[in-house]
Amino acid sequence: IGMGGMDAFRARYIDNGLLDFLLKEREQGRIRNLGFSYHGDVDVFDYLLANHDKYRWDFAQIQLNYLDWEHAKETNPRNTDASYLYGKLDSFGIKAVIMEPLLGGRLAKVPEHIVSRLKGRDPLRSVASWAFRFAGSHPGVLTVLSGMTCMEHLEDNLRTYCPLVPLTDDDNRFLYDTADLMMQHPAIPCNDCKYCMPCPWGIDIPGVLLHYNKMLNEDNIPQSRQDPKYSKARRAFLVGYNRAVEPVRQADHCIGCRICVQHCPQGIDIPAELARVDNYAEKLRRGSLPG
Ligand code: SF4
Ligand code: SF4
Repeated sequence: IGMGGMDAFRARYIDNGLLDFLLKEREQGRIRNLGFSYHGDVDVFDYLLANHDKYRWDFAQIQLNYLDWEHAKETNPRNTDASYLYGKLDSFGIKAVIMEPLLGGRLAKVPEHIVSRLKGRDPLRSVASWAFRFAGSHPGVLTVLSGMTCMEHLEDNLRTYCPLVPLTDDDNRFLYDTADLMMQHPAIPCNDCKYCMPCPWGIDIPGVLLHYNKMLNEDNIPQSRQDPKYSKARRAFLVGYNRAVEPVRQADHCIGCRICVQHCPQGIDIPAELARVDNYAEKLRRGSLPG
């Protein structure tokens, strides 16, 4: 719930009696736990909690990770800080199901200086494990969802959670500072869900956005021509771009129709971000200042 704001919520769940129906189903034991997964407009989240006396939510699913804890709005103005969402659920005693503990994988592929920072604190733990421990350490968390694509992810998660060693207050402060550092070089919050696809004009939207993020993570985004790594980083960006995304599907072919925007759960202004990446690539092609 949440996408489309209160009007969409009322149309889908209130005016047609659907939520009342679900409440009756729970009363009759056919639903054991009634909850909601929240994305989008925080007014809907607030409304559902303000009416907790009536709905008695058994759980709610929210996006929570150490970057979104206090920086959700900076990565996406439509998002709400996880500290607010979790704090609100906790105050009502509603259990939280956590989605996006790795923020679409971004917290497993952090920039090199962040990898050094995390490894410096605990060389034996993986980068991803910090994010999973952050999500799992909050006492009101029922479960943490993790998309695992290979055995290594499963094994790493088992090492993290069997047993879970909760973060200390000092660990939490370390992660809040880590998030502050990461926000100095913000990536585009695309998690490769592909809900925006296909683009009628053939643009490989996630391909373009993820290439930019990848270059950022690998410190291959040159910030100035004076940077001694400028030539190498420029080549890595442009050659990598052509390898990652066919030229006919790159950002310069976007016509700005905005059909894709309504489908993006992250609320990314896709044509604006594509224009930003294109502008950046074009400047690099000309060998001028990218910034
Ligand atoms: S705005 Fe650009 S990327 Fe989005 S659907 Fe239109 S052409 Fe495709
Ligand atoms: S819908 Fe948004 S988050 Fe998903 S792939 Fe497209 S741009 Fe990325």
